[in-house]
Amino acid sequence: MGLCPLCNGFEMKSIQCPNCQSLMEDRGKVTDYFDDYSAYMDIDIMKLFDGYANSLENHECIHYFYCPVCQHQESNSVSE
Ligand SMILES: [Zn+2]
Ligand SMILES: [Zn+2]
Repeated sequence: MGLCPLCNGFEMKSIQCPNCQSLMEDRGKVTDYFDDYSAYMDIDIMKLFDGYANSLENHECIHYFYCPVCQHQESNSVSE
């Protein structure tokens, strides 16, 4: 299993909001937001659901970023 530097606190990743150029906040793994559904879905389906079908094979962790200024949300893959 890979080790995501963001999940483990080794690294901070900040991305710029495409709308307002503010710094977007890392809100953690996208898959954490599907906990309510995880009883009904296996991990492969969740990986497909987050739009990164190959993230499991590529050892990427998909993080959810949020812009505090304009509420823009987006996901970004992080190499584990
Ligand atoms: Zn992560
Ligand atoms: Zn923004």
